[in-house]
Amino acid sequence: MTFQSNTGSNIENKVKQLSEQLYKEHLHRIYCRTDLMFAILMPLQWILAIIIALTFSPKTWAGTTSSTNIHVWMAIYFGGCITLFPVYVAFRFRGTCFSRQVIATGQLFMSALLIDVSGGQIEMHFHIFGSLAFLAFYRDWKVLMTATVVTAIDHIVGGLYWPASVYGVSFPQPWLWVEHVLWVVFEDVFLLLSCKWGLQELAGICSKDASLQSQKLILEEMVEQRTSSLKEANLRLEAIATTDPLTGLPNHRSLVDAIEKELNRSSRYKRSFSLLFLDIDHFKALNDSLGHSGGDAALEELGTLLRSVIRSIDTVGRWGGEEFLVLLPETDSEGASMIAEKIRSEVAAHLFLNERGIYLTCSFGVASYPADATAISDLVESADKAMYAAKKMGRNQVRLFSDPMLNSLVNSDSETREEAALQGIMDALAGLVDARDLCTGEHAGQVCKIACGIATALGYSDADVKLVNQVALLHDVGKIAIPDAILQKPGALSAEEWDIMKSHSATGAQVVGRVPALRVAAAGIRSHHERWDGAGYPDGLKGDSIPLAARIVAVADTYSAITSNRPYRNAQSIEAAITEIDRCSGTQFDPMVVKALHVYLEQLHGQQEAA
Ligand code: GH3
Ligand code: MG
Ligand code: MG
Repeated sequence: MTFQSNTGSNIENKVKQLSEQLYKEHLHRIYCRTDLMFAILMPLQWILAIIIALTFSPKTWAGTTSSTNIHVWMAIYFGGCITLFPVYVAFRFRGTCFSRQVIATGQLFMSALLIDVSGGQIEMHFHIFGSLAFLAFYRDWKVLMTATVVTAIDHIVGGLYWPASVYGVSFPQPWLWVEHVLWVVFEDVFLLLSCKWGLQELAGICSKDASLQSQKLILEEMVEQRTSSLKEANLRLEAIATTDPLTGLPNHRSLVDAIEKELNRSSRYKRSFSLLFLDIDHFKALNDSLGHSGGDAALEELGTLLRSVIRSIDTVGRWGGEEFLVLLPETDSEGASMIAEKIRSEVAAHLFLNERGIYLTCSFGVASYPADATAISDLVESADKAMYAAKKMGRNQVRLFSDPMLNSLVNSDSETREEAALQGIMDALAGLVDARDLCTGEHAGQVCKIACGIATALGYSDADVKLVNQVALLHDVGKIAIPDAILQKPGALSAEEWDIMKSHSATGAQVVGRVPALRVAAAGIRSHHERWDGAGYPDGLKGDSIPLAARIVAVADTYSAITSNRPYRNAQSIEAAITEIDRCSGTQFDPMVVKALHVYLEQLHGQQEAA
């Protein structure tokens, strides 16, 4: 029974129903138990009746011949009838009103039989009182009434036809049966009272039991309800605690747990695992122009986009602010770099905030287990470092922690305030190129990567690699002064147009040279189109007189230009770029730099193969 609706009257009704149900069940148990008791008692009485008959009057004498007394036969046959039928009914109809009435009738016939076979002995009349007392076990007044009526009929009829067998005398007083019946009624009064009180007591116990049970059920129901609402609240809390409310992605805490799990799994099964750290480029500027709500909407959209581009086994989450982490199980750094590149290009091509049509780019850092780090903090730090290098190399690109030039570029411990300010200026200048032409922006990043790779292969110091990076990042800054008609022209340039185009290296150097800390880089920018044989521009410098950073950027620039799409031709293969650069080694390019390019590309290839 449930107590879902807890209104007062409803509960009262339910308790009443339960109490009645319990009362009926108890009573039924009493009926069954008493039926069983008589089913045992009656056969014993039958045996007793036969013993008494055999003891008191086994024989009937006629002269000298004797025969078995009628009492013996009565005890056997009549006793059998009044025993076996009630016993059968007690088992077949146990607990029913019918079985009680049959047993009551049979039992009182048994009393009559015992009185009869004992020759109407007055002591045997007490068996009737015993029978009534036993029948009172039923706590059913109707049973006592039946027993009383059977006794009365037996005494009246027996008294009339066989007085000796009932009263032990042949001529009893005519109203003797009345006295006997009155004694029976006298006992009935007490037995009926005891039945009534017994039933009242039982009803009281059942009512208490019902109210206790109902209270227990109500309590259990309340506990169940509370437990389930607690469970729900816990689930909600857990979801809140592990989900970023803006993007719906796993939050920082949840990501830490996921990385830990993935690291454990990868270490147990000796698998690789990579982490992508991505940070939106120039996000502050977007917030400044569109407001914080615009920024939030872009973050939300990026979250959805990232979720849609990753593989089903990957996990993307918001690490904090405008930084996201992608967990790439079963992926080495080469695979991770390919996935990162795919995500990078999808993000760069996506039109954010529909009505405003904003393009966003992200810088990516990749770190892999076990090659780059084995502890969670080291792995995240490595990916962050690689992302920072991507920022320094012009943004919107993917950098691996395993890149040899990474340490030269990223040395945050020693970064002074001046260096940070300088980085800001370079970002601003590179941003100008980005704003002017997206393709040039990506190109700058690529040139940075290759130029730094060559510088590292040449064994340059960190400071020199940084200088090469500056020149590579800003080498095309002067192109912002070149008209679109020339910059984007698909066909060949006229001599006049070519002259204008050639002015970009000097213009770039002029602009950059206004920043005192970038004067050295400005020289490199000015000379990045000089040729080893002296046939370059703008100054026609030759051989070692060309700044080394410019000679390096010249090679990296050509390599990047050949391997990427340009308005005037499609991207060619790496082999084609190497062949062309080799062909021009010693004429256009410094042979030492070309050799270093080979070393760098071999290192890169070796790393990829190892991964
Ligand atoms: P870059 O990463 O390319 O160096 O430039 P940035 O402008 O993105 O620079 P930085 O990473 O230092 O700045 C992050 C900015 O992201 C700062 C803050 O205004 C913005 N930002 C962080 N969290 C949220 C956010 O939940 N909502 C919005 N709208 N902006 C956020
Ligand atoms: Mg950031
Ligand atoms: Mg950012």
